[in-house]
Amino acid sequence: MKTAVRDSANLMRLLGLDSNQVSLSSKGEAQFPVFVPLPYLSRIRPGDPFDPLLLQVMPQYAESVDAVGFVEDPVGDLKVEKSPGLLHKYPGRVLMVVSGSCAIHCRYCFRRHFPYELAPKSLQQWEPTFRYIEEDDSIHEVILSGGDPLTLVDSTLQSIVERIASIDHVQRLRVHTRLPVVIPQRVTDTLCEIFSSTRLATWVVLHINHAREIDGEVEQSISRLRNAGATLLNQAVLLRGVNDNVDALHQLFEKLVDCNVSPYYLHQLDRVAGGAHFEVPLELGQQWIADLRKRLPGYAIPLFVQEIAGEESKTAL
Ligand code: SF4
Repeated sequence: MKTAVRDSANLMRLLGLDSNQVSLSSKGEAQFPVFVPLPYLSRIRPGDPFDPLLLQVMPQYAESVDAVGFVEDPVGDLKVEKSPGLLHKYPGRVLMVVSGSCAIHCRYCFRRHFPYELAPKSLQQWEPTFRYIEEDDSIHEVILSGGDPLTLVDSTLQSIVERIASIDHVQRLRVHTRLPVVIPQRVTDTLCEIFSSTRLATWVVLHINHAREIDGEVEQSISRLRNAGATLLNQAVLLRGVNDNVDALHQLFEKLVDCNVSPYYLHQLDRVAGGAHFEVPLELGQQWIADLRKRLPGYAIPLFVQEIAGEESKTAL
């Protein structure tokens, strides 16, 4: 992460792009800085301002344009926050925002305005959350999210997992992460040991939007996680310019199943302020999923969903 590219000028220089080819948003970049790790940068095609991987990380001018209906908390996270960093939105599971850091900054991120600075920063500060989980025996699953939970150092992550595993009624650990994709070297032996040694059933939910995000090193990181006993799912977001055609979706879902990752969810974009230019009309997504049913086996087709604030589950589209 120390070597990541942290500003658009450097990103453009490294990719051989000039200011005539990309219209940037300094306002968007000031709000949500550029952050692109080198392993991910190496998969972006140099000289192509429309590269689908680049579009996910480049602060385009469109981010500066206010769009009606696009807000800072599109999925209603703050309304279900029981204490800073603890979200209890759906029955049976809670989500802990254990890190405010990510190994990449995705311009469409629905938490790009989340008040991470208020969330607990140490195991001790999380203790009230662990007691909240202990006192509610309907909670069977704890989701580690962020930010990216794998930005924590292994010793902290291990302590959190062990503390969760000490609560008898919790059966499952879910980890929402993009790190095995953007810096596949993060999947170390120590990390795998944390997952393989816990009594909790471990589900790792990756976030991959385009088949070209998966190279040989990502395949190895996925394989290491699987060998550590984790079940692997992917959630993708339908994004204009990135995967908004049936062939791109076909390649993504087929590549995922070839790596033994279930495609699980395709999300309609959460309407976050600054992300309007990524939105694809709902009907197109529905049509492409219908078309893919004629091309791919059922297990390769994700559920197309939207998260609607206040609903008790994701809404199938
Ligand atoms: S990795 Fe996830 S949480 Fe982090 S910026 Fe990307 S979408 Fe947001």
